[in-house]
Amino acid sequence: MKYLCCLIAICALASCSPKGPYALTNKVYKDKTKGYVALIQRQNPDSLRDSTGALIPSTWVGTVNFGIRRPNFVIIHFTAQDSVQQTLKTFTITSTQVSAHYVLAKNGEVFHMVNDYLRANHAGVGRWGSVTDMNSCSIGIEIDNNGNEPYTAVQINSLLALLTQLKKNYHIPTANFIGHEDFAPKRKPDPGPFFPWKTLAQRGFGYWSDDILELPPDNFDYTVALRLIGYDTSDINAAIVAFKRHFVQTDIRPQLTQLDLNVLYNVYAKYSRL
Ligand SMILES: [Zn+2]
Repeated sequence: MKYLCCLIAICALASCSPKGPYALTNKVYKDKTKGYVALIQRQNPDSLRDSTGALIPSTWVGTVNFGIRRPNFVIIHFTAQDSVQQTLKTFTITSTQVSAHYVLAKNGEVFHMVNDYLRANHAGVGRWGSVTDMNSCSIGIEIDNNGNEPYTAVQINSLLALLTQLKKNYHIPTANFIGHEDFAPKRKPDPGPFFPWKTLAQRGFGYWSDDILELPPDNFDYTVALRLIGYDTSDINAAIVAFKRHFVQTDIRPQLTQLDLNVLYNVYAKYSRL
């Protein structure tokens, strides 16, 4: 009887499921992946029609030389929520339609929610260079942070370990570690001015300006520089604020001071060396 009470108590702690509170969503995940496996195993060509509507002859011939597409960007976010449990819930209910590959808790724990080869719904509408469907080519990392507080040291330690693994596994270029704010300057402020981009850059994840900055030449065009780094400059004020959230951080007003211009010129040179 005592044993039974104990079992019931443990069961209650785990939200009455013998496999934990996410057993149901884990099953949904597994079933969905089965559907994608069936999709990539299809061996029938799409039927194409010419301008007259006539069917164009098409034949499937499977090659023996192929692989799986790899993510080529990492997009960093803050959750803008109050706890990691809240975020796990947000990403395990269908009504929100949002997710990320990884969620990093304040205590450094890493939650992996979508296989790296699959597409998570984290970046949404935006543009970086010519990339518009960022979800299809990136890993999304959400960091538990309400947007108005520093990140914890253990969180950043876990992030650096994760980024090291991702960069190695998928050969992600240094320039391709960016924030949601960079990809969607008109909509998103994350991961914001508290995020330690300098620390990341020192480890080869994204860029940061040098300590000694040169003055840009007289004909330096800041709009072109922002665009060549990757920013969507259709709203130039939004692009300037996004740039300053990432690369200046001490001031995020939509004006470029002389210091901001020096930083921009320095960072732009790093991107244009690619
Ligand atoms: Zn975000």
